[in-house]
Amino acid sequence: MSDITVTKVKQVGVLPTDKELGFGTIFTDHMFVMDYTTGKGWHSPRIVPYAECANYPAMIVFHYGQAIFEGMKAFRTEDNRICVFRPYEYLNRFNRSAEKLCIPKMDVEQIHDALFQLLALEKNWVPGQLGTSLYIRPFVVADEPHLGVKVADSFKLYIILSPVGAYYKTGFNPVSIKVEDKYVRAIKGGLGEAKTPANYAMSLAAQQDAYAEGFGQVLWLDAVHRKYIEEVGTMNILFKINGEIITPELNGSILGGITRKTVLELSRSWGLKTTERQISIDEVYDAYAKGQLDEVFGSGTAAVISPVGELSWKGQRIVINHNQTGPYAQKLFDYITGVQSGKIADQFGWMEEVR
Ligand SMILES: *Cc1c(COP(=O)(O)O)cnc(C)c1O
Repeated sequence: MSDITVTKVKQVGVLPTDKELGFGTIFTDHMFVMDYTTGKGWHSPRIVPYAECANYPAMIVFHYGQAIFEGMKAFRTEDNRICVFRPYEYLNRFNRSAEKLCIPKMDVEQIHDALFQLLALEKNWVPGQLGTSLYIRPFVVADEPHLGVKVADSFKLYIILSPVGAYYKTGFNPVSIKVEDKYVRAIKGGLGEAKTPANYAMSLAAQQDAYAEGFGQVLWLDAVHRKYIEEVGTMNILFKINGEIITPELNGSILGGITRKTVLELSRSWGLKTTERQISIDEVYDAYAKGQLDEVFGSGTAAVISPVGELSWKGQRIVINHNQTGPYAQKLFDYITGVQSGKIADQFGWMEEVR
């Protein structure tokens, strides 16, 4: 691979205190950038100061949304090492998203090396308090200035880094969720399984309505039957019914979360019956009526595990586990965050150290 050129800032910034950390508003001193040009491929990899990125108003991503992104985390462990959680899982998904958006394939090893070189430079920006992390946001945008709808001939890949605070500052609080029956997020054959801005644009109106009605999140149903469960907000969803872990199968319209994968692998290793299949909202309400709906929780990189305290579907409300965090959600959260913080031995080889 071509060498990465490095241009350093004149004066490095200071990591805010843990109290001052929120999500995604503070960025580290440097970022990684690389260009793609048709005929030339991906080229000019460089680490440069984090700064405004000037570009032309006509660039394709502004008008037609040709873009993809990822979101993963680096942690400072208890023994003061910096480790990234399952980086190859996220980078391989990045390439799968690229394919769906007609964005040229990237060399995963090259992006991996670039990320680790950037992290080695920004080690001081990784906060250490339990629950905090350095959020890693790789993304690609079509930056060719052109008002015609087409696959762009030039792209930019960026990796930016943001120290983030603990998601749960005052302990777990289960969310109340509106089961969406008006809007849809994605459909088989569309972009639902890619991590692309369009899916978020699709979700805004539903989210606004749900907030206005006092809910914290939206649970999406399938776009055809308006019946089968897909995912929740920006997380995958899992149910514990009569002792069994059930989650919708990856059917083409659902994003395949790395946290979802981690939860399934863990559940299997702990000997729980774990099933990926189509599951309807009626089935969930039936299980509730029979007293078999033990727990419901979301999974995603930001929150890790997000317990669901209440579901509301067409005005019918059900309260899950007395609106308390269930023991299984708690166990998963404690285990995954334990491995991430270095408290629990990394048996599965999830953590990769920055040296
Ligand atoms: C990123 C994302 C998730 C969660 O995936 P993780 O890899 O666990 O962070 C779920 N749904 C959508 C729509 C997402 O964009």
